[in-house]
Amino acid sequence: MSKRDYYEVLAVERTATQDEIKTAYRKLAFKYHPDRNPDDPDAESKFKEAAEAYEVLGNQEKRQTYDRFGHDGMNGHGFSGFSSNEDIFGAFSDIFGEVFGFSTAGRGGANRPRAGSDLRYNLEISFRDAAKGTEVGIKIPVEVSCEACDGSGAAPGSSPETCPQCGGSGTVQQSQGFFRISATCPNCRGTGTLITDPCDTCMGRGTVIKNKDLNVRIPAGVDNNSRLRLRGEGEAGVNGGPPGDLYVVIRVAPDDTFERQGQNLVISREISMVEAALGYRLEVPTLDEPVNLDIPSGTQSGEIFRLRGLGLPHLGSTQNGDLLVEVRVKTPSRLNSRQEELLREFAEIEVGKLSNRAKGFFKKAKSKVMGE
Ligand SMILES: [Zn+2]
Ligand SMILES: [Zn+2]
Repeated sequence: MSKRDYYEVLAVERTATQDEIKTAYRKLAFKYHPDRNPDDPDAESKFKEAAEAYEVLGNQEKRQTYDRFGHDGMNGHGFSGFSSNEDIFGAFSDIFGEVFGFSTAGRGGANRPRAGSDLRYNLEISFRDAAKGTEVGIKIPVEVSCEACDGSGAAPGSSPETCPQCGGSGTVQQSQGFFRISATCPNCRGTGTLITDPCDTCMGRGTVIKNKDLNVRIPAGVDNNSRLRLRGEGEAGVNGGPPGDLYVVIRVAPDDTFERQGQNLVISREISMVEAALGYRLEVPTLDEPVNLDIPSGTQSGEIFRLRGLGLPHLGSTQNGDLLVEVRVKTPSRLNSRQEELLREFAEIEVGKLSNRAKGFFKKAKSKVMGE
């Protein structure tokens, strides 16, 4: 039996948008729903056919493959069609859930292994620790299997009973109009078992909260929002599932001396007008010992000097960023008469002669200082 073209099945154009495809499928799913057509065996095959078409066309990647290679292209694409209606409800729970405004229960048995959740831990460290790297002891509250009852939740000596309502599957079938959906069993809350004699230690939960001590090695060069992943240190898995991971998210406290720009450190230093003009040896703090920086004569305010390799280490590399020293030239605000005299002399040499305007300016500036 040859398969019908999927576009034909859903009665949409080959150029239909994903939304149009979804709408077309919803219409067909409703029309051919088995609960609505109990006496029409043809309806069920149409219901399945539509689901198969939607599984392909509703997925961009599968749709592209289908557009290029047709039905042949779908083999080897992890595509097998649907063996039962339950599969269809499960695969398109968004569609079937949407119709009634709730989503269907999680699929799979209650005793299926489940991976533990990942955990997040926010850790604030000092600027120096971020720069140099450090090791920090942290305590994280984790849910671990209760040792007293081996995680069963039942008091030692007793054992959980199979839930009579769902027969241990953890899910029950509910009819909502034309649709039949799987919902979490309300009697056992999806666990499939009932505990008649709960464990005293964990109150029947099967797990207890414990503080776990961990040493976290912080590599040199971490920045705000750096995430360190500690594999397997997250929440414990359920029914033999693997544990989750722990993500330590770093927050670096600001520093009084240095500002950070990527892996570079930036500091700002003031020098006097004369130091800028004549040259000056400036002592500059670094992450280690201070170093001397020779400011050449004729330095302008705002000039930046780069000290290579004195910044922060790049994560996972031996290379360092740089230390950038921004020099700000400070103009003296108070001059004694001798200094003023010398500066006037300097100005005369510089511009040849002092303009009247500049003279007035100097007088005004002086009286303003005196009047403070
Ligand atoms: Zn149950
Ligand atoms: Zn227990």
